[in-house]
Amino acid sequence: MDVTPILDGLNDAQRQAVTSPPEPALIIAGAGSGKTRVLVHRAAWLIDVEGISPQSLLAVTFTNKAAAEMRGRIESLLQLPVKHLWIGTFHGLAHRMLRRHWREAGLPQNFQIIDSDDQLRLIKRLLKSLEIDDSLRVPKEVQWFINAQKDEGLRPKHIDDDGDPNRRQLISLYQSYEEICQRGGLVDFAELLLRAHEVLRDNAELLQHYRRRFQHLLVDEFQDTNAIQYAWLRLLAGDKGIPFVVGDDDQSIYRWRGARVEHIHRFQKDFPGTNIVKLEQNYRSTETILNAANAVIENNSSRMGKKLWTDGATGEAIKVYSAYNERDEADFVIGRLRDWINQGNVRADAAILYRSNAQSRVLEEGLVNARIPYRVYGGLRFFERAEIKDALAYLRLTSNRNDDSSFERVVNKPTRGIGARTVEMMRAYARANACSMWRAAGAIASDDLNGRAANAVNTFMSLIERMARETDGMDLHNKVDHVIHLSTLIEFFEKDKGEKGETRIENLAELVSAAKSFEPDPAEEMSPLDEFLSHAALEAGEGQADAWEDCVQLMTMHSAKGLEFPLVFMCGMEDGLFPHQRSLADPQGLEEERRLCYVGITRAMQSLYITHAEQRRLHGMDNFSQASRFIAEIPDDYIEEIRPRVQVARPMYSSRPTQRQRSATSSDNELGIRLGQQVRHKKFGDGVILNYEGQGAHARVEVNFESAGTKWLVLSYANLELM
Ligand code: ATP
Ligand code: MG
Repeated sequence: MDVTPILDGLNDAQRQAVTSPPEPALIIAGAGSGKTRVLVHRAAWLIDVEGISPQSLLAVTFTNKAAAEMRGRIESLLQLPVKHLWIGTFHGLAHRMLRRHWREAGLPQNFQIIDSDDQLRLIKRLLKSLEIDDSLRVPKEVQWFINAQKDEGLRPKHIDDDGDPNRRQLISLYQSYEEICQRGGLVDFAELLLRAHEVLRDNAELLQHYRRRFQHLLVDEFQDTNAIQYAWLRLLAGDKGIPFVVGDDDQSIYRWRGARVEHIHRFQKDFPGTNIVKLEQNYRSTETILNAANAVIENNSSRMGKKLWTDGATGEAIKVYSAYNERDEADFVIGRLRDWINQGNVRADAAILYRSNAQSRVLEEGLVNARIPYRVYGGLRFFERAEIKDALAYLRLTSNRNDDSSFERVVNKPTRGIGARTVEMMRAYARANACSMWRAAGAIASDDLNGRAANAVNTFMSLIERMARETDGMDLHNKVDHVIHLSTLIEFFEKDKGEKGETRIENLAELVSAAKSFEPDPAEEMSPLDEFLSHAALEAGEGQADAWEDCVQLMTMHSAKGLEFPLVFMCGMEDGLFPHQRSLADPQGLEEERRLCYVGITRAMQSLYITHAEQRRLHGMDNFSQASRFIAEIPDDYIEEIRPRVQVARPMYSSRPTQRQRSATSSDNELGIRLGQQVRHKKFGDGVILNYEGQGAHARVEVNFESAGTKWLVLSYANLELM
C-alpha cells in the first residue's frame, strides 16, 4: 500500500531509487527511462516523507529551463511552493553563492558576469594592447585555453609551461586576462565555477555552513559534469552530505567543454558504498525508435553497456529522406510538418533538430513562408542581440563604472565624436595606471584631450552619471526604460530604415517587458537591477523565456538533451556535418558524435524523420556529402526511405490566390517541379533545377546547365522538358 502519492506512477526500480536510504546513490540508465522523473520524486519524497527541510536540498540540472520545470514538478507533487529550495544550473548556483559571499570570494559587490562573446572581445582587446597579431595568436584559441584551464580548476600559477614558449605565452595571456577581469569586477562563465569552488575551499567557516545546510545533493545529467563542477560537488558533500546523481554514460556530449564521463566511475570510488540503481524500461519512445537508438549506440566501444526495452507499441518506421539540397530538405520538413499540424496536432510537440546553429536559417525561411510559428532555442538568443547588449551595457555602467567591456561597447554608440584614437589613449592610460577605462577617461579628458574630444568624453560620463541619478529608486522596468530613453539608442536605430532597425527597436521594447515580468528572487541579496543583469548574462547561454507558446521548436541536438517530443526531425544527417568534420579522424570525437546522435533519436516519442542533403550550402560554401554513417547503423527494418515525389512532366500553375512570396523558397511545390530535377532546354541543353520562385506567369526557375552554366528562366517561356 502506498503511503504517499509520491510513489504513484513509478515502476519498481524507480521506487527503489526514490526511496533509497540516506546514502550516496548513482542512478545510471538510458534515455527516457525516467531518471529526471526519479530525481523529482526523490526531492518530493525527502521533503514529504523523510521530513527534510527544502532548505537542506540542493538540486542541479542542466539548463535554466529544466530547473524551472523541476521546481514546478516538485511543487505540484507536494502541492505547495518550495521557496527555499536551491535549484538551478551549476552556473546559476555558483553565481548565487558568489553574490552572497562576494567579499570572501575577493570580488566587488557589484561584479558583473560576462558571456563568452564579451570574453572573446576582451581577449581581442588584450591581444591588441600587447601588440600581438591576431593571426599569430588566434583570440578564440586563447579563450579556449583560458576556459579549459579554469574548467580543470587551474590558475596561471598552477600551470607549468613545460619549457614551451607557446604555452608560456598562453599562460601569461591568461594572467593578464585575469588582471583585467579582477580590476573590472568581471566574471566569465568558467570563472563562476572556479571561484565558487575556491570560496568554499578557502573559507573553512563557509564550507562548514554549507555542508551543514545541504544534506542532500541531487544532480541530473551527471555524465556531463566537468572537473571543477565535480570538485565543487565533492567539496560540498564532504563526509556527511548525501549525493544522489542520475546520468547516462551514453549521453555524455560535452567532452569538448571539459565534461568527463569518467566521473561516474570516480563517484563510486569517492563515495564508497554507493547504491547503484539501473533503470531499463523506456517510457518515452516507440519500440522502433528505441531499437534504432540502441543499434546506433552499440557501435561505440567505450560504454558501460545497457539495453533499454519498452512494452510500448512498435510504432511507425523511421522515415529517411534524401534531399537534393538544403532548400529541398526544408521544403520536405515543412510539408510534413504542415500535414501533421493539419491533423490537429500541437505545434509545440514538434521539434526540428540540427547539428549546427547555422542550419536553422533556411529552415526558418521556410517556416516564415509557410506561416508556421516557430521558436529557435540557442542561435542568436535574445540577450545576445547587439541592441540588447548595447542597452544592457548602459545599465551595467550605471551599476558598475569599472565595467570596461560595457564602457568600450557604448562609449561611442550612438556616435558622439569619441574616435578610435581617443579610445586608444584611454586604453594606454588604463594599462599604464592599472585602472579602469572609466577612470582613464576622466583623467585624460581633463589633461590630455583637445577641447572637442574632451567635451565628448565628458558628455558621455555625465550621461552615465545622469542615468544612475535619475533612475535611482525606480522600479526595475522603469529603470530599463529610462536608461534606454536617455541613451538615444532608439533614435540611433531609427536611422537604419530597413527591417533590421525596426526589429532592433522592437527588441528594445521587449527588453522593457522582460524587465517588467522579471521576478527578483526574494532570497537574493542583490539589487533587482544586478539580479536582472546577471540573469541576462546567464540566460544568454540558452533559449528564450516564453517557451510555452504553441510554436514548432528548433534547436541543436545539444540543446535538446533531456527533452522529448512526439514528432522529431533530425536534419542535415551528412558525414562531415554530423558526424562533424572535426571528429572524423578522431575515434573519441566520433564516439561523442554518436552519443549525440543517440540523444537526438531518443528525443522522439512517436515519429522520427531523418533527412540529409546531397548538396548543402553552409557558411557560404557548397558541400557535397554522403549520408551520415549513423543512418547506415540503423537496421533497414526500422527505416522507410522516402523517395522524392515522382513529378508530372509539365509545369502546373497554382489555382490558389497568389500569396506573397518573401524569398526564393516556395512554401510548397505548386509548380510541379522539384529541386534537383533533371531538365532539358532546347538551346542550353541538359541541366538541374537549383531553385525556384514566384507563381503563375511569374514563376521562375534557376537551372544549372552542364555547358551553359546557371540561368534563371521564366517557366512559362522556357519550355523545359522534364527528364
Ligand atoms: P533522458 O535521458 O532523455 O533525460 P530520462 O531518463 O530523464 O530521459 P524522463 O524524462 O524522466 O527520462 O522520462 C521519460 C518519459 O517517460 C517522461 O515522459 C516520463 O514522464 C515518462 N515516464 C517515466 N517513468 C514512467 C513510469 N513509471 N510510468 C509512466 N511514464 C513514465
Ligand atoms: Mg532526463
